[in-house]
Amino acid sequence: MALLCVPLVASSVDQMLLDADKAKASGADVVELRLDFLKNFQPRQDLGVLLREKKLPTIVTYRPKWEGGQVEVDEQKRLGALRLAVELGSDYVDVELKAADEFMKSISGKKPEKTKVIVSSHNYENTPSVDDLTNLVAKIQSTGAGIVKIATTAKDITDVSHMFRVMAHCQVPIIGLVMGDRGVISRVLASKFGGYLTFASLEAGKESADGQPTIKDLLEVYNFRQVGRETQIYGIIGKPVYHSKGPVLYNKAFSSVGLDAVYVHYLVDDLPHFVDVYSSPDFAGFSCTIPHKEIMCECCDEVDPVAKDIGAVNAIIRRDGKLLGYNTDYIGAISAIEDALRAENIQGNVPGGSPLAGKLFVVIGAGGAGKSLAYGAKEKGARVAISNRSYDRAKEIADSLGGQVIPLSELEHFHPEEGMILANTTPVGMQPKTGVSPIPKSALKHYRLVFDAIYTPIDTRLLTEAKEAGAIPVSGVEMFLRQAKGQFELYTDGSPAPVDVMREAVLSKK
Ligand code: NAP
Repeated sequence: MALLCVPLVASSVDQMLLDADKAKASGADVVELRLDFLKNFQPRQDLGVLLREKKLPTIVTYRPKWEGGQVEVDEQKRLGALRLAVELGSDYVDVELKAADEFMKSISGKKPEKTKVIVSSHNYENTPSVDDLTNLVAKIQSTGAGIVKIATTAKDITDVSHMFRVMAHCQVPIIGLVMGDRGVISRVLASKFGGYLTFASLEAGKESADGQPTIKDLLEVYNFRQVGRETQIYGIIGKPVYHSKGPVLYNKAFSSVGLDAVYVHYLVDDLPHFVDVYSSPDFAGFSCTIPHKEIMCECCDEVDPVAKDIGAVNAIIRRDGKLLGYNTDYIGAISAIEDALRAENIQGNVPGGSPLAGKLFVVIGAGGAGKSLAYGAKEKGARVAISNRSYDRAKEIADSLGGQVIPLSELEHFHPEEGMILANTTPVGMQPKTGVSPIPKSALKHYRLVFDAIYTPIDTRLLTEAKEAGAIPVSGVEMFLRQAKGQFELYTDGSPAPVDVMREAVLSKK
């Protein structure tokens, strides 16, 4: 199991000690004293205090600017401070590969057994190939390093797979991290691939490297302590993706039923390449969101007939080496809308049938979610109208479902009848741009029910204005929970989803 280390980046010794206490209280195993962040650092005095007062095992790092750190300092002074850390009994010191030979020579014969030397290499440009990383490991090992540390930069999420492969086969303790927002999985999955340690910031804004999650997120969102070599990996593919509450919901659900599984965010640029690279059975299933749901149909080996009809896949499982694609969005959204209408005793035009039957159902957006909603509404007997930024995409759906297209510029004045249903399936109003709505408020009085697929925030501007206009608001949270229930059951071959746990997980995390 990888250790969890919080880097301390305060500018004063007092604050660093306070942060060290907080790190311990937050669940860290190790803290890293980033001496290069300290203002007016006095080696003997400051290190003396920091190491005397330490309450957790400690890494001492004094990162120079030439390796991405904070200080430009005489190299002899810098290495002298690291030697002092060894003398004072620090559990670990981190020395850069370029300085390692000199440092190792200077402590040869003097190193107390206690101190492990981490020899580190940082690449802020890219992630080398597996062969180049393997050679780098050998080079670091040859310095006599106790622990190898390699941090690279992800230009694409598939770069992380290079690091995973190297870590999984490494014979020495290794810290392998891929920086940047496309590299976050390298931090979350460190234990799965045999990493010695991972870094997490004490809180947002106190990161020592790009892409570091907070310790709270690592422990509470990603269930870091439960991840091990056998853990099955699931996750949400999207771009953007970090707004997704999938990890909160599924990780709580997995642990509540005792499943050895973790659910992560995948920030994916090139879907076919991603699917090709993460093709091992460890990557057991995926969810798919904006903007990849349609292309996902082509990336699966088999697509369920309903998902094929819709033209969008949001749930994928791997079975016998094949990727099977499904659509759980449509039933999730449509059942939420039907239940809200039934709760108000609103009937459709077919006795005992769906309350949507016969209604005019207007969908804004023609992407994966738009297609799902339009398909579902049609299935339930509604008349469908689609409005979208790109007219042609709306026309394609309308033609396939026998519906009509409303040019986006005419949506505001479209009200051939009262009591219509409106479903927004665009990201307009989603975090972080929450102040906007896809339709003017004045148009909402013609709708009996307004559904918004967005669930971050829960109360979008569209739903707030719909309520004010007298419509029944239905939140994307309902769709999210219901489609997630369907996905959970696919992932687990039909085990019932812990719906209450899932609901609480989504609603409790703002
Ligand atoms: P998608 O396939 O990328 O489709 C997005 C649609 O929104 C496209 O039709 C696009 O128009 C339109 N659009 C994007 N930006 C726009 C803008 N600034 N102004 C006007 N139209 C815009 O995405 P998706 O997977 O369908 O997801 C769409 C939204 O639904 C996202 O906010 C997602 O989080 C949400 N969603 C929620 C759930 C849930 O469970 N609650 C499930 C799925 C999706 P063009 O055709 O012109 O590009």
